[in-house]
This record gives sequence, structure tokens and C-alpha cells, in this order.
Amino acid sequence: MRQPVEVRIDLPARIAHAALHTAGHLIEAAGRAQGWVPAANNHFPGQARIEFTAPRPDARLDTPEGREEVTEALRTEVAEAIAQNLPVTRENDAEGRRIVYLAHLHSAPCGGTHVRRLGDLADVVLPTLKVKRGRVRVSYSATHRER
Ligand SMILES: [Zn+2]
Repeated sequence: MRQPVEVRIDLPARIAHAALHTAGHLIEAAGRAQGWVPAANNHFPGQARIEFTAPRPDARLDTPEGREEVTEALRTEVAEAIAQNLPVTRENDAEGRRIVYLAHLHSAPCGGTHVRRLGDLADVVLPTLKVKRGRVRVSYSATHRER
């Protein structure tokens, strides 16, 4: 027996999640550019963060000044990609997995919700990163640009 199902999308919540989620991918790309390997992520509002392992010793991670310096490098990378308004696209690969692309910067299998272009992101804020239990933890917040 079939039953009708009513589905509603809470649009403000959805675009807030899309912004956080996409910013997470972007930070992942910026971390990879530092030579780090993504280890965990959390895209929830108020606790969004990406964690990496750093396979090569990096003296910048050992001091507060160094951590601020490397965070600033991440901020720059993120701001440049947003200024370029790079497109966010998706495609199914040969195995049918949904792959999400941030132009040439990044691709990852992901079923999440995303903004269409990085220029849709606003208020992307990265407090100085932390190193916890051997992981580089980059917390962040992000919103969707006003339309
Ligand atoms: Zn995603």
C-alpha cells in the first residue's frame, strides 16, 4: 500500500547548513594545500570544525604565533576562492557515488547540501587553529550571503 508523504524544506535552515557544509569542504581544500590529511569533520552550527593530521613536522604548529600564522594562510586561501566565486558542482562517478567539486580545488564523495558558488558564502570566520591530541583542529563558522 502506498501512502502519500508530505515533505517540507525549512529553507533558512537548509541554506545555513549548505553554507557551513560547503565552507567545510573549502577548509579541507585549504588544509590539504598545507600538506595535511583530513581526519574528521563536523559541520553542525556552533561546533563546525575540520580536523587534520600533519604527516610532516611543522614548527608553526608548536607556538601560538605559528598557529596564528598558519591560520592566516588558511584564511587567505579561503578568501581567494570565495573572491573567485568558484562553482560548486556534482557528478556521479563510475561507481555511482556522488562527487562534489569545488572547481579545481577539491573533490570529495558527499551527499550533503551545498551552495552553488563559493561567492554565496559570507562571514567565513576561522579562529586560530588548535592542536589537540596530535590533530590540527580548524574550527569555523559561515553563513549564506544575503540574496
Ligand atoms: Zn559536502
